[in-house]
Amino acid sequence: MQNTQQQCTKCVMDTTDPDIRFDAQGVCNYCLEAAIVLPKMKFTAEQEQENLAKIKQMVHSDANKYDCVIGLSGGVDSSYVALLAHKLGLKALCVHFDNGWNSEIAVSNIKKIVQKCNYDLATYVIDWPEFKDLQRSFFKAGVVDIEMLTDHAIMATMFQLRKKYKLKYILSGSNYVTEHGMPLKWIWRKQDLTNIRDIQSKFGTKKIKNFPTMNSVKFQLSKLFGLGGTYIEILNGVNYSKVDAMEALKREFGWEYYGGKHYESVFTKFYQAYILPTKFKFDKRKVHLSAQIRNGEITRDEALQELAKDIYDPIQLKNDRQYVLKKLGFSEEEFGAMMAAPPKQHLDYASDEWIFNIWRKLKGKKNA
Ligand SMILES: [Zn+2]
Repeated sequence: MQNTQQQCTKCVMDTTDPDIRFDAQGVCNYCLEAAIVLPKMKFTAEQEQENLAKIKQMVHSDANKYDCVIGLSGGVDSSYVALLAHKLGLKALCVHFDNGWNSEIAVSNIKKIVQKCNYDLATYVIDWPEFKDLQRSFFKAGVVDIEMLTDHAIMATMFQLRKKYKLKYILSGSNYVTEHGMPLKWIWRKQDLTNIRDIQSKFGTKKIKNFPTMNSVKFQLSKLFGLGGTYIEILNGVNYSKVDAMEALKREFGWEYYGGKHYESVFTKFYQAYILPTKFKFDKRKVHLSAQIRNGEITRDEALQELAKDIYDPIQLKNDRQYVLKKLGFSEEEFGAMMAAPPKQHLDYASDEWIFNIWRKLKGKKNA
């Protein structure tokens, strides 16, 4: 059973996050932070139009074939970015990152979107044997953020593509409303290439050759000097609601929902709905539902009802488990032993954390 000793009185976050803190009224630190930030994400219709017009003015260019890049996963956030870009008349190059795990629904969503918007689609297909070996290594290492491999590769690929096509702007699906309040212990820093390399050197059988990488120094320098392009978080400029966005996507593109945040990938679903709750004893649905409560999209009672439901349909779980194990080449015994082994920290392996600590200090001084 999960440890739910204390649960926030406003959202559904609880002490399965070891860093959670509560005030005297039992309200968690995530709710308290969001109460300050969320009102800044609410706009009048005029403000919303103004924000979008500013983005269009900055990004639109007659000179180039494309004026921006959109990384399209087929999920709600990135699909809605494509819809907004299309409505603004922007000429986007869409990039689909194929790591071998994307669901058919996600791929079909992507096709519908680029067809309707008349956008070009560049598909990056990962070197599967190498990526499979990396994913196996992360399983064996026992660290929490197996998904950082995909996130890291997407980041590096977007950087390379932007350079290739000489594009300055990246329309990103990152947004505060649906993504805020993720406990730090539940994820790891995606840029940490030293961590990836060390884990692969200890547990892998292949050298990293084709897997797209970007080291932390380059990443931070490019951020500092704007070399990685300008990331525009367009969803932070509109009244973004996942429920409304899905309605619009269904209406405009015939887009289909795949049943859970980030479940557009079979692996992500199995990771979030099986590996994390089973081995690491936490349930990411709590973060996503809590964000929706704070945004006024659902009530706390509705979220509690949702949490009471099975996280995985038993038949689906059996099928997905078989599929994932077979694809990664793990036997039942091997996989069972890894799931039963105590979790390890990312910091049990070499890491670029020191670079980020310096960066944080510099930033702190700059802001002081
Ligand atoms: Zn809370």
